[in-house]
Amino acid sequence: MGTVKRILIANRGEIAARIAGTARRMGLTPLIAYSEADRESLAVLVAPSNEKIFIGPARATDSYLNTQVILSAAKTHAADAIHPGYGFLSENSAFAREVQKQGLVWIGPGPDAMDMVSSKSKAKQLAENSKVPILPGFQGEQNPERFAQEAQRIGYPVLLKASAGGGGRGIRRVENAQELKAQFPLATSEALNSFGDGELLLEKYIGQSRHIEVQIFGDGKGQVVHLGERDCSVQRRHQKLIEESPSPAVTPELREQMTAAAVRLGQACGYAGAGTVEFLLTPSGDFYFLEVNARLQVEHPVTEMVTGLDLVEWQIRIARGEGLPLSQKEIQFRGHSIQLRLYAEDPYRNYEPQTGKIEAFTFPLKTRVDHFLTSRTEITPYYDSMLAKIIVHGTSRTEALKLAEEDLNQTLVSGPVTNQIFLKQILTSDFFRQGQALTQTLDSTSFEKPHKAPLNEALTAASLAEFLQAQKSAPTPLDGWSNGPQHHASFLWHSDDNSHLLRVARKSDQLTVTTAAGQASYANVEWTPPWLLINSPEKKSQAIVHRLSHGNDVLMNGEIFSFRNGLSRSSAKRGIESNAVTAPMSGTIQQVACVAGSQVKAGDVLAVLEAMKMQVELRASRDAVIESVLVQPGSQVRGRQILLKLQPTSAKEN
Ligand code: ADP
Ligand code: ADP
Ligand code: MG
Repeated sequence: MGTVKRILIANRGEIAARIAGTARRMGLTPLIAYSEADRESLAVLVAPSNEKIFIGPARATDSYLNTQVILSAAKTHAADAIHPGYGFLSENSAFAREVQKQGLVWIGPGPDAMDMVSSKSKAKQLAENSKVPILPGFQGEQNPERFAQEAQRIGYPVLLKASAGGGGRGIRRVENAQELKAQFPLATSEALNSFGDGELLLEKYIGQSRHIEVQIFGDGKGQVVHLGERDCSVQRRHQKLIEESPSPAVTPELREQMTAAAVRLGQACGYAGAGTVEFLLTPSGDFYFLEVNARLQVEHPVTEMVTGLDLVEWQIRIARGEGLPLSQKEIQFRGHSIQLRLYAEDPYRNYEPQTGKIEAFTFPLKTRVDHFLTSRTEITPYYDSMLAKIIVHGTSRTEALKLAEEDLNQTLVSGPVTNQIFLKQILTSDFFRQGQALTQTLDSTSFEKPHKAPLNEALTAASLAEFLQAQKSAPTPLDGWSNGPQHHASFLWHSDDNSHLLRVARKSDQLTVTTAAGQASYANVEWTPPWLLINSPEKKSQAIVHRLSHGNDVLMNGEIFSFRNGLSRSSAKRGIESNAVTAPMSGTIQQVACVAGSQVKAGDVLAVLEAMKMQVELRASRDAVIESVLVQPGSQVRGRQILLKLQPTSAKEN
């Protein structure tokens, strides 16, 4: 085993940042490989220029999965070890072998152990030999007739699984022989295309099950310890969303049995480093082996929280030949940890992955959040859509639940749609609170997008933030058509199909907000971007407000509101160029304060519009001569209707 000083991280996203953090803490040098699509990610941003390595185009096959490029990056940057993270090349034993052949340290299990467990069918064989319970199933001759016979024996429904599959993909549920024969060729070619191996296996489908997995570590010489279990039953489409440790369903006796089974399996293949043995647990307490993930897992942080250990540090220490850092007896478990996976996806539309620029983000300050976002990160369609993992640790499950919920009330990512509200819905559901989530629960429950609490509070927050921000940066006038930086301003916001007009006025320390619903005054409002704290005697509340180019995003009481500016900064500019003064919303013209030919100065009132029981002053955006007036007092106007025109300042402008 060689020295490990310079570790090439052949991965991206949160896990690249996570591994780099531990490497630096240990006094080692992480080398960050990144593709075209990841220039603006956290791990790349914080790395010195000689410690980041561009490895090619966004497409993973051209960069993160390109073994030649990775190996030559390691060579040119004098790496002595490679950490593959999860996904990508992490379970590719041929690559691990090549890494070792080139004299580099592979931070992962030995390639021979990987070969014994990386295919689900081989791993099941090993499990059976190690007296680890497996589900009735069939692996072998790849023939649809044979599969149909075996399925008959096992009993429907069965699962047709890609032996090399992962990440919840390549699993099909089959109800009868006819379906099986129809699905067989499709599943084979899908497996071949997605995983480079067409082998399928058959497994009995368990209608009610929990996903329980055991974290193991081996020294490669037959010593294996476990770091307890994780419950990953909250899944959508066989993909994990929320994980916790310990499992609310695992009794001390069951833990004893499951962890012993996992350790036996690790010993049977001379396992080195971090691995996870996955099981299904039935309501009657029977458990069955599923597969081994021969790598670090996405949900490893919950184990770190309850053991107080750094699993990446363990991986590195074992890879450099130090053996297991602790014996089984020395590994202690404390409290309860929950991890929430924040994804750029729309849970109310088939979990459609979302792409787009991250415009702003706020995470809870006191909680571990593993993420990769910077103010310029773009979520591209090339990779997994996971944005961040929020990881809490409490003394009990009840406390961890409370902390997790609080953290969602302090998290806001603006840009692509996320599953944040859905996470909150699950956290506060009875089935999750009572520790009764099964792997089928999400897919068999229909979740409605929750109705939002009254808009008024959120609109007030959006307007107060805008008002206080303008005051901070005075004398710049407020945006768009609203009043100057002085003592009052009006704000127009659009939400879905509605328009909302608000007025904020300051009198000494008092801020009065007028909405369609009435007036409210606030004595003590603090704007420390992105936090808005309202401390009035009758109402204490806090909000996160992201001021974006097209409007404001507000997080309040755990709900997310997106308001577009009535007149966005850019459309205000376009308005100047087109010389047209338009109505910011529908209403009645109360007053027209100019005539064609009038000379006006920037900020002069041109007209007054009455809308939603309020008066909106429309002011000149620049010095100009009025060319024409198209409305008169009493005119009913629609939003964006042209009210008057300014003469162009010079011929060039047209
Ligand atoms: P975990 O079990 O740690 O949650 P997953 O199985 O969900 O991990 O996979 C972790 C990451 O690796 C995901 O981004 C997933 O899409 C990817 N992944 C896992 N296995 C494969 C595979 N065989 N081929 C391609 N990607 C995979
Ligand atoms: P992957 O490699 O994609 O992680 P797994 O075999 O680990 O595939 O299964 C992923 C998930 O699919 C499990 O966590 C579970 O929810 C579901 N699943 C797998 N096998 C079965 C089964 N035999 N019966 C019911 N659900 C299953
Ligand atoms: Mg799995």
